[in-house]
Parts: sequence; structure tokens; C-alpha cells
Amino acid sequence: MQYISTRNKGLRCSSAEAIVKGLAEDGGLFVPESIPQLSRYDFDKLIEMSYPERSAYVLSKFLDDFTYSELLDYATQAYGRFYGDDPCPLVNVDDNLYVLELWHGPTCAFKDMALTMLPHLLSGARKKVGESDKTLILVATSGDTGKAALEGFKDVEGTDIIVFYPSDGVSDMQKLQMMTQEGSNVYVCAIEGNFDDAQSAVKRIFADPEMASKLASAGYKLSSANSINWGRLAPQIAYYVSSYCDLLSSGQIEMGDEVNFVVPSGNFGNILAAYYASLMGVGVGKLVCASNVNNVLTNFFKTGEYNINRPFIKTMSPSMDILISSNLERLLFEFSGRDDALIAERMASLKSEGKYSVTSEELSRLNEVFAVGYATEEETADTIDSTYDLYDYLMDTHTGVAMSVYNDYVAESDDDRPSVVVSTANAYKFPCDVYRCLTGDEIDDAFKASKKLHGFTGEEIPEPLGNLDKKQVRFTEIVDKADIEKVVLEYVKK
Ligand SMILES: *Cc1c(COP(=O)(O)O)cnc(C)c1O
Repeated sequence: MQYISTRNKGLRCSSAEAIVKGLAEDGGLFVPESIPQLSRYDFDKLIEMSYPERSAYVLSKFLDDFTYSELLDYATQAYGRFYGDDPCPLVNVDDNLYVLELWHGPTCAFKDMALTMLPHLLSGARKKVGESDKTLILVATSGDTGKAALEGFKDVEGTDIIVFYPSDGVSDMQKLQMMTQEGSNVYVCAIEGNFDDAQSAVKRIFADPEMASKLASAGYKLSSANSINWGRLAPQIAYYVSSYCDLLSSGQIEMGDEVNFVVPSGNFGNILAAYYASLMGVGVGKLVCASNVNNVLTNFFKTGEYNINRPFIKTMSPSMDILISSNLERLLFEFSGRDDALIAERMASLKSEGKYSVTSEELSRLNEVFAVGYATEEETADTIDSTYDLYDYLMDTHTGVAMSVYNDYVAESDDDRPSVVVSTANAYKFPCDVYRCLTGDEIDDAFKASKKLHGFTGEEIPEPLGNLDKKQVRFTEIVDKADIEKVVLEYVKK
């Protein structure tokens, strides 16, 4: 199967090339030329499979440069690092309500579902396209992505990874997770300033031909672990297929029945994967896109105008504090009838004006598939508290946003199909906020808050978070943003 750019259908490449390149030469995103279908026969087989097998099976439909057994080997290694028996359990919390827990991986956030797979896909793809240079992954992170990428790429042959985080832009838990990172091919460095400073410094390196030639002479090529890479998006489709299979095999639905998915969204990668699953043949009712008060997506689906000219608000669901949802480009490509010229025009308008609009005809088709909503900080806090009271179910702040939007959706619609709320982080990743939502008590220290939260709920603290204060700190460097080129060059010379 070939991959094409959303901004120019004439730019084509193989699945392995799409993964190695990450982004198309014209700045567009790679999408599969056609969407593979899952037949009744496929579902009969999938139902019998373990999660790594399901993942490999779904991926093999998209990534035909890889054999099923290669993909199974990657998935077995990736999901073998998750704790518990099931990498993504589906929990039945009420009659028609399920929670899909995507945070049983090494960093306790849903990014692990894809970032434990991507390094294997990338090193496999490098071999297939005959790439002999090492791959250097550069990441600017506001928290979850950096740690999940570090864990994913650590000790993966042929790759090195450097993560930059803003010295005053991540939580204590997130900072400590990165400073104590293990592995022989990793480096972590703080940048003085905020996330934008870290992000623009890293982008500067990607755009600098002089850096590229210096890196090439050291035997390196740059790549990205962001969700613009198809190799990061594709593994996310598998868990939607898998949760549908779980509902089938437990007899809670029958083949063809429709299920709603409620997804706490930021960059729009997670919910887009659900949309691709529906195109493959998974019975999907509504896809409910949940935002926090940075509700650019809510406004877009209501008005047809995507507009980022507005203040950026910091919330207790920081991984959803995003104004530019990159993956929306892939969705609009499909809904515009794959009109590449139109997409290129809209993305140019986003860059120059900070906005673009879709037609009312496109908007009404989008609203047939998607429902939207957002939650304020107070609504999220109340929902975390009431869900715990009602169902004894503990959620993190991002999942709290989704559950709040789900409650609104059910109240406003007469939709009685089963719904799956997608849970993207373990509550102990945000212990101070979650504890405050449940009790009203403010605790500043993350470890103290974790202990209190454990005392209050009896819920297990996941091992990767519980022993963090006992781990050795390896990375303490803080640099000015002007100096990050030096950090990168020094690393590759070692
Ligand atoms: C990244 C992230 C999200 C947002 O997912 P997108 O794919 O960017 O829409 C939501 N919750 C958590 C915990 C995350 O880390």
C-alpha cells in the first residue's frame, strides 16, 4: 500500500518510507492511499487473539512492508513492557458505560500505546529502506510525550534520543520521571523558559541545513516521535478494534452493533485513530471529542471555523492544552473528498491568519460522525469526585474531562448505544490535582499527595511512579535556548 501527502496526492511513498520520513516534503501528513477493510472473517480471528496479536494483525493491513511475524515480534516486545495481564483493559463501570484504560504502560499515560511500538517500527523501516545512518530523535515536550518517547527508544538499536523540556513548564512528577531516565542512548536536558521556547528551539534544529550536514558527518539523521508520524498513529487504531472485539467476545454487543467512543483530545491523534477504525469496519456510533477550556475543537465542530487567535489557558489537564491540533489535517483530507489543493490552502491560511473554515456541507457531514463538548476545571473536578462516589472508579484529570463531556452528551441526546470513555492517564500521574478534586485539600508535594490518595482510595500506586523518589537522578543540565545546538552536537560526538 502506498502513502500520499495530504497536501499533494502526487507525493507517494511506501509505508516504510512514510515512517522514516515522518512528514512529507511539502509539509503535509502521510495518509494511506486507501483504508483497508476488516471482514467478518477478520473479526472472527481477531476475537480469539491476544492484544499483541490483534495489534500486529491490524498494523499488517496498513504496513505491507512488514510481515505479520515481524509486527508480532515488535508488539510482543512493546506490550510485554506493560504491567498487568491486559495492556488496555475495558472496564464496565455502569450499564452502558465502559472505560478503556490506555495507561498500563511504562510511563502510565496513553502515549505508551504507540511510543513503545514506534521505535521498533522505525528501526525496522530503516533497514527496509536501506538507511545506514543512525536515527536521532529530538523531542520538545510539555510532559507526557518526552518520558514515553524516552522509555520507548531506550536501548533500541540504531537510534538515539534527546529530550528537551522547559525548566518551568512540567510537573514535578514529570520532571523526575525524565531526570531519572535509564538507557545508554538517551539524553535529557532542561531549557530555561516555557514550552514554546523548547519547541521553537527544537524546530530550529530541524530546519537548519548546516546542522543536518554536521549531524550527517557524525553518522546521524534526524527524526521525530510526534503524532504527525504515521508510525505513531497506526498503533492507536488497534486498540479501538480490540475494545470492540472485547465487547463482542464478552457478549455485550453483537457484530455490527454501534458503540460510541468519548475521547479526551488535544492534538486529535487519539480520536482520529478511532475514526480510521470506523472506516475499517468497526461499528462506531458517535465519536465524542472532549476538550478542556482550550476548546478550539468544540468551536470548530459547532461553527465550521478553526481559529487559534485566542489566549492559551493552563489547566489541570495539561496534555490537552493545545491550540493547534495537527491531526485534524488528516480528518479534513478525508471529509473534503481528499482534496489536496484545498487542504494545502487551508493549512497556509492557518499559518498566516491563524484560522480557516470548512464549508457548511462538510460541517454537517462532520457532525454526523462527531459530537463535541468541553469541560471547565470545576466541571472536571466535580466529575472526578462524583464518578468516584457513584462507581468507586478513580480517574485522572484528562479522563475527568471526557467523563464530564460524556455525562452532558447522554443528558442532551437520546443515544442509548454503549459508550466507551477513553482513559488516557493513571490518576497517580496528577496526584495533587486528583486528591484536591476528591477531598478539597491542597497538597503541593506529588509524593505526599500520592500517599494521601492511596490512603483515601486504596488504589494501587503503579510501580513506575511509586519508586521514582528512590531512583538515581542522571540528568541535571539546564541550558539557554540559544545553546541547544551545542548540546546536540556534543551528544553525537560521544
Ligand atoms: C496526549 C494526551 C492527550 C491528548 O491526545 P491527542 O492524541 O493529542 O488528542 C490526552 N490525555 C493525555 C493524558 C495525553 O497524554
